[in-house]
Amino acid sequence: MPCKYCLSECVRPSGSMKGKKTLKCNDCGKRFTESDSLPKMRVNKHAMVTALSMYFEGLSTRKVSRQLESIYGEKVSQVTVWKWVRKYSILVGEYVKTLSPQIGGRWHHDETVIRCEGQNQWFWECIDEDTRFLVASHLSETRSLKDTVTQFRNALETAKRKPTVLYVDGSNQYDQAFNTVFWSRYKVSRPELVKRIGIRSRETNNMVERLHETVKERTRPMRGFKNQDSAKSILTGYVVNYNFARPHLSLNGKTPAQQAGIEVKGWKALVENATRKEALEPQSQAQERISIAPLQVV
Ligand SMILES: [Zn+2]
Repeated sequence: MPCKYCLSECVRPSGSMKGKKTLKCNDCGKRFTESDSLPKMRVNKHAMVTALSMYFEGLSTRKVSRQLESIYGEKVSQVTVWKWVRKYSILVGEYVKTLSPQIGGRWHHDETVIRCEGQNQWFWECIDEDTRFLVASHLSETRSLKDTVTQFRNALETAKRKPTVLYVDGSNQYDQAFNTVFWSRYKVSRPELVKRIGIRSRETNNMVERLHETVKERTRPMRGFKNQDSAKSILTGYVVNYNFARPHLSLNGKTPAQQAGIEVKGWKALVENATRKEALEPQSQAQERISIAPLQVV
């Protein structure tokens, strides 16, 4: 079997652990037991990625737990499902940052209220019109200039380019942040800020409204987040699911990521790629430390 971490075929037997045969990878150097689960996990890989998918499509941890037993015969507690969701949301969230979606130029931005730690907080979302890719999101306690700047910078970081037009609602809070992040002294590369005002604002802002509805589908049954940490990881997972796993009707069943030129689709591929990235990375950092160490001695 290929390496559980980096998927290399270059593996050799290397003793056993708790009665199970273990293998060692020649490429990434990691050891793992021979089974069909992900590294350091007990449960079958398919059951686990199905759990992630079911959770982000709106099932409660209790229902996911029941489904795993009825489909795969795997007994998994609600707490375990919750731990997987958090762990892999963060891991995959880091991995997708390394991808480069080809995003169009017309972006729509808006924010909505989300309950966290018993109070109302702001969840910011920015969507690209052509690909429906969720370019940036951000959770904050306030709706300040700093938060707006953070959200616009996040969008710039993901798209690696400026929009041609940014659509926002009618309030004036966006101007300064827009100028801070997107202003250019050259008119040709200066994006346009369009404020939707009056009756047309709702109608034209439908795209972001639908997006807010999607996040609420996930958060409503939870009656808000218990703390910032879980809010951040679940919202990261929600964005991943939206961009990379959920087929979009208006895109002929493609995901926004596919429309943006990225073929990686669904939680299985995402979890495998993210695990591989993590397995190959710390080693290079470790090697760096080793090469620096003798100098420190001198
Ligand atoms: Zn490996």
